[in-house]
Amino acid sequence: MFTLIELVQPESLEEAYEILSKRKNNIVIGGSAFLRMGQKRIGTGIDLSNLNLNLIEESEDYIEIGAMTTLRDLEVSPILNKYFDQVISKSVKDIIGIQFRNVVTVGGSVFSKYGFSDLIVGLLALDTEVELYKGGRMSLEEFLNKKYEKDILVKLHIKKNNASALYKCMRNSRSDYPILNVSVSKSDNSFKICVGARPQRATIAKEASDFISSNILNEENIIKASEIASKELVFGSNMRASKEYREAICKSLVKNALMEVSSC
Ligand SMILES: Cc1cc2nc3c(=O)[nH]c(=O)nc-3n(C[C@H](O)[C@H](O)[C@H](O)COP(=O)(O)OP(=O)(O)OC[C@H]3O[C@@H](n4cnc5c(N)ncnc54)[C@H](O)[C@@H]3O)c2cc1C
Repeated sequence: MFTLIELVQPESLEEAYEILSKRKNNIVIGGSAFLRMGQKRIGTGIDLSNLNLNLIEESEDYIEIGAMTTLRDLEVSPILNKYFDQVISKSVKDIIGIQFRNVVTVGGSVFSKYGFSDLIVGLLALDTEVELYKGGRMSLEEFLNKKYEKDILVKLHIKKNNASALYKCMRNSRSDYPILNVSVSKSDNSFKICVGARPQRATIAKEASDFISSNILNEENIIKASEIASKELVFGSNMRASKEYREAICKSLVKNALMEVSSC
């Protein structure tokens, strides 16, 4: 369990950032579920509850999601569930249980770039941007590849395009961390294949995505694309699965996801 010297609830993002920058061990606190797993000694914990960041809003071109929105809010959002074949809801629905998802936040989940993250893989298939208080707005892909810098994740912005999307995941047992997760989106004739829990953080299988986007969507090419994805990406071993097993699961999940997309 972490130790917290002081807890503050700033009234503005500027104030929150100022406190965050003051000392190395001052940090933003989301649902604090992951923080509880460690032994961090935190100076000032910054709770963003007063900043109206628990929101899911739709504008003409984007869906905005505030950092303090919980994963359960995402799962049951009537706005999000109108789009992208409910891929966001499907990506988070198996994380532990409802009570847990009622607590954990989008900010804590995305800013931490956990390799196993179900949410990040779901979001990566879409045209998602991350808004940081200091770092500004950038694509989720760019954010994932960026070096860690202290900042506050304020919102996510998902472009409302006509993408259809799918999420697939393999767990050793219910409520365990995923051993591999895959999302696939199709917008016009362009495919995006994303893979996470490799166990490294989520990434786009670019060669496989390009291959299937520029070839006829039939069984032969789907099998080829799944082989390309499992070869182009780097996998690793941990207590949940070996590198070789992940590579095999990747092939199978990508194939199944593309098969489902092709039958839509
Ligand atoms: C036991 C357990 C099992 C889990 N299993 C899964 C799983 O199977 N799949 C899955 O996808 N996830 C899983 N998770 C992760 C979970 O879904 C959340 O992503 C995680 O708990 C972080 O969210 P939080 O709100 O609790 O963040 P916190 O614990 O509050 O914070 C985590 C980190 O994020 C930082 N942070 C929080 N909010 C912000 C912000 N707005 N801006 C900048 N930094 C911020 C904090 O400073 C901290 O470093 C699991 C977590 C736990 C504890």
